[in-house]
Amino acid sequence: MAAFGSVFMPRMALATFENNQWSKTQIVPTDSISLHPGAHVLHYSSTCFEGLKAFRHEDGSVHIFRMDQNIERFAQSSKLLSLPAVDKEQVSNMILDIVSEFASDVPVPPGSMYIRPTHIGTEPAVGKAASPSLTSMLYILLSPVGDYFAGGAHALRLLIDETGQRCASHMGMIKSGGNYASALAPTLEAKEKYKADQVLFCPNGYITETGAANFLLVDGNEIITKALDSSFLHGVTRSSILTIAKGLGMTVSEREVSVEELLERAAKPGVEAMLSGTAAVLTSVGTLIHNGQDVKVGSGEIGPIAQKLRQALNDIQWGKAPDTHHWLTKVTDR
Ligand SMILES: *Cc1c(COP(=O)(O)O)cnc(C)c1O
Repeated sequence: MAAFGSVFMPRMALATFENNQWSKTQIVPTDSISLHPGAHVLHYSSTCFEGLKAFRHEDGSVHIFRMDQNIERFAQSSKLLSLPAVDKEQVSNMILDIVSEFASDVPVPPGSMYIRPTHIGTEPAVGKAASPSLTSMLYILLSPVGDYFAGGAHALRLLIDETGQRCASHMGMIKSGGNYASALAPTLEAKEKYKADQVLFCPNGYITETGAANFLLVDGNEIITKALDSSFLHGVTRSSILTIAKGLGMTVSEREVSVEELLERAAKPGVEAMLSGTAAVLTSVGTLIHNGQDVKVGSGEIGPIAQKLRQALNDIQWGKAPDTHHWLTKVTDR
């Protein structure tokens, strides 16, 4: 089975920004783009992306999950990076057009079609370290993905890092390439030294998130996660899980959580920790590595509440439960 995100549909939707306006959308081959070696993105990282999914329902219809939220975040990332402003309606049409073209390739659950909008600064100008690219390229890639847990799910090991941080704190809410490069070295070191799956970045002793997923804690009937601020990525999965939890009668607490509080709570039976994100949805955290010691979270295994919340979200995405929050956009022939 191919690694997540390594297979692409042969065509994508593309538009360019030049002379202060967006071009018409083109459908072009995915195998290459043409870029000047001096392009702004290659030198000064003017780049952002999104990740969302289209799902196939039992009647064959295809539905995109919370597309409006991802487009809003894409527009916000572009703005915060001083890239040209995206045309949200055009982006929405680009996504619907290309997903519609490949609707018959959308895998059945637990598979899906992963959608990767990308926006890059293209102006050939290596003298523009301190000024924005006046031209850009925006494209929508599609990648059919299978069951994320095909190899069997296991509870994750997270290294608690209280000294470093994932990225510059004013960049945290931007889905931008450089942030992932910046989290790579500490994550690779944690894998090698501690056999950790991910690093939980906790600068100054307070939890933010891992390299590419949000962190949630469940204690009894309460679900606890960091309140939104500019230091971390505002996950659509995070917000969806909180809405579902509230609907199930849980108390949602969005606030700061210290490492000290996390370790205290982790020792209690029945406590669960989890990571949320579009790719893996919701994954249990079984072990925290703190000061070189393994600390179990609750039972240390995959937790029943994580499974229940993930199932509730999947049921909506897969058309098995009513879409009461209007999270799905149906893709029709275009
Ligand atoms: C994409 C991402 C998430 C999860 O966001 P979703 O919208 O739930 O997919 C969390 N943290 C980081 C750093 C991310 O890049």
